[in-house]
Amino acid sequence: MFKKLVVIFACVFTSTVVAGVPPAEDLRLYDIAEATSAERIQADIEKLVGFGTRHSLSATDSETHGIGAARRWIYGQFEDISTACGGCLEVVMIGATVSGENRIPDPHEIVSVIAIQRGVHDPGRMVMMSGDIDSRISDPMNAIDASPGANDNASGMAGVLEAARVLSKYRFSGSVVYAALAGEEQGLFGGKIVVKHAIAHDWNLDAVLNNDMIGNISGINGVIDNHSARIFSEGVRAAETPEEAALRYRTGGEIDSASRNLARYIKKTGTQYIRNLDLVMIYRLDRFGRGGHHRPFNAAGFPGVRIMEVNEHYDRQHQDLRNVDGRHYGDTIEFVDFRFAAKLTALNAVALAAMAWAPAPPSTVSIKGMVNHSTTLSWQMGDDENLAGYRVHWRPTTAAEWTRSRYVGAVDSFTLQDIVIDNYFFGVSSVAKDGNESPVVFPGPAGAF
Ligand SMILES: [Zn+2]
Repeated sequence: MFKKLVVIFACVFTSTVVAGVPPAEDLRLYDIAEATSAERIQADIEKLVGFGTRHSLSATDSETHGIGAARRWIYGQFEDISTACGGCLEVVMIGATVSGENRIPDPHEIVSVIAIQRGVHDPGRMVMMSGDIDSRISDPMNAIDASPGANDNASGMAGVLEAARVLSKYRFSGSVVYAALAGEEQGLFGGKIVVKHAIAHDWNLDAVLNNDMIGNISGINGVIDNHSARIFSEGVRAAETPEEAALRYRTGGEIDSASRNLARYIKKTGTQYIRNLDLVMIYRLDRFGRGGHHRPFNAAGFPGVRIMEVNEHYDRQHQDLRNVDGRHYGDTIEFVDFRFAAKLTALNAVALAAMAWAPAPPSTVSIKGMVNHSTTLSWQMGDDENLAGYRVHWRPTTAAEWTRSRYVGAVDSFTLQDIVIDNYFFGVSSVAKDGNESPVVFPGPAGAF
């Protein structure tokens, strides 16, 4: 009798606690995680390598060789994907003439190819996956010789196409943007041009997942590793004003930019939905002194990260194809692991889908609690019809990831009793009725999306 009572009480207690809380998982994301194809990624990398060179200053008048052929083929791929989903993609070329630069002295058209899958409820809100069209070898000005760029960055480019194939089978609340960026190796010009376009067209871009080298599993140090990946993110936002910096200095946010919380989000989502993948957040913009196409987006204030392999092989980056004393140099396709590239593509796909299904990240998040034993977070209530409510998060100041959270429902403010503001970092996320959640937003301009 006593045992039975305990069981009944346990059930009542559980259902009381759970009622109203959206589900913690979305089973569709497991399907998405399984859907990326190593074979299709291999075929796309072979095709891209087959253009001979994709150097930004290479031929544009050939149908089989050079950067012009490569971008037209990518455009055609997006069009084919769009046809298969009933015209669900808007495919556009966004370009400009660049000249007078170190690596583009004479006028050249730098043209990126962008495909937009419009959201159903909130089409103005966007999340982007990007890769690069172009390649280079030892001399950054060599536009003639073979430059396969198989891992750098046909792998990321093929990943973008594959993510579009997989995600275009679904309908999302917000929009998903698939970006083939040009001119990366010459100075991040395609990204800069797309950023200008995004600002001119009022893009509400909440995330850029830039993929640059997602297919190499053998490091130059001999490490073989097909189960881990890095997510690079800026700590303090590049676009911070001096006033915002002064505020941050006194109230915190050095490791809580929107980009950093996007990185945490990708790690959490990937850890949940992707099998056998250990995600390593790197608390820096990019590799030491090196660059990638998320940077122009960060510079303009858009949250963005770089996703890539952990173990790089420098003999296979930016190298003339050659053999020296039996040592191979060059970024050739036999060193790309297509299954690994498919896995990192799946990582992108689940993070993009979860964000596009989730409501917008909370806006105007603020916090108070100075000289108080409790902490109050406030934010603006969203009007997304898919919104269920909000979750407040907190963590010790030395914790890398959010450790504690509480679902608080459809309110625009919540007080955490007896949680002292000084001893934790805080944030808020939006939660959809289907359980998908936005990234956590740190209060104030330091963390705003
Ligand atoms: Zn490169």
